[in-house]
Amino acid sequence: MLVTLGELLVELMATEPGQLFDQPGMFAGPYPSGAPAIFADQAARQGCATAIAGVVGDDGFGDCVIDRLRADGVDVAAVRRVAAPATGVAFVSYAADGSRQFIFHLANAACGLIAAEDLALLPMERATCLHLMGSSLGAPGMAAAAGAALDRLPPDALLSFDPNVRPELLRDAATAALIRTLARRADLLLPSEADLAFLAPGEAEDVAASRYLTTARAVLVKRGARGTVLYLQDRTVETPAFAVAEIDPTGAGDCAGATFVAGWLRGTPPETLVRHVNAAGAMAVSQRGPMEGNSTPAEIDAFLASRP
Ligand code: ATP
Ligand code: MG
Repeated sequence: MLVTLGELLVELMATEPGQLFDQPGMFAGPYPSGAPAIFADQAARQGCATAIAGVVGDDGFGDCVIDRLRADGVDVAAVRRVAAPATGVAFVSYAADGSRQFIFHLANAACGLIAAEDLALLPMERATCLHLMGSSLGAPGMAAAAGAALDRLPPDALLSFDPNVRPELLRDAATAALIRTLARRADLLLPSEADLAFLAPGEAEDVAASRYLTTARAVLVKRGARGTVLYLQDRTVETPAFAVAEIDPTGAGDCAGATFVAGWLRGTPPETLVRHVNAAGAMAVSQRGPMEGNSTPAEIDAFLASRP
């Protein structure tokens, strides 16, 4: 069983490129979102038994994210609902050059209430892997919850960690330090290139990755439209991305990471697995909405069959 915890939220996306937040405009959504929620959804779609803990409001946005996760097979028994505050919201806007801006309503929303007690309904004793994300650690109770989850993790279970550094959420030095600590402790480390630059400023990617490989069994570096590099203890597997039209890159990293972890737990050989990861990432960016492009193994097979 894969277990994760953190923010469940909805996303509202500016519909026009270059449409920022300082003027009225149209927004599409709500789309179910939250990095751990996207991850859990994709892991479940990949056939991995998956459970998530978190907090949502007793409102339609909460229904939006819970209903989707449940429909895709995620165990949501540990998702707590509260009368107030409301479900977390992220607003996303794409600048004309493709770069993103976010406004997050997280720490003061329901997802900001997560606490160590929220682990009570997570089946920690059956966990084979705990997945944590740096984007979750800004919630006041999340450091304690993550620590408690690590304490309750069975000894042979893995920790997977996506630093998922969001400058908008990195308000204090303690959160940055915790991201570094978890990265050093992870068995499966899933950084983007920017995350790795944050973890090891000024260091070459392969040098940084090899330092983490003293603990980690795998470091999967996500390179956006350039694909992935998988650093293993005995070899490096570099795989180009599939050429697709990028409609919406948000969530692709979480989708790719979940595809990796689900396949790793299943024992898929790394060279096969990275192709699945790149296929899942390519399908994710091809759909508008952070988890609308998540995929099953059959959909990944069909995508790969359509490619030379
Ligand atoms: P996030 O913004 O969700 O944190 P990330 O930086 O963690 O994303 P990315 O590298 O953007 O992750 O995307 C994950 C994977 O998705 C990539 O490694 C690649 O396989 C695939 N991918 C991303 N962007 C594209 C693209 N434009 N075309 C094809 N594949 C892509
Ligand atoms: Mg990421």
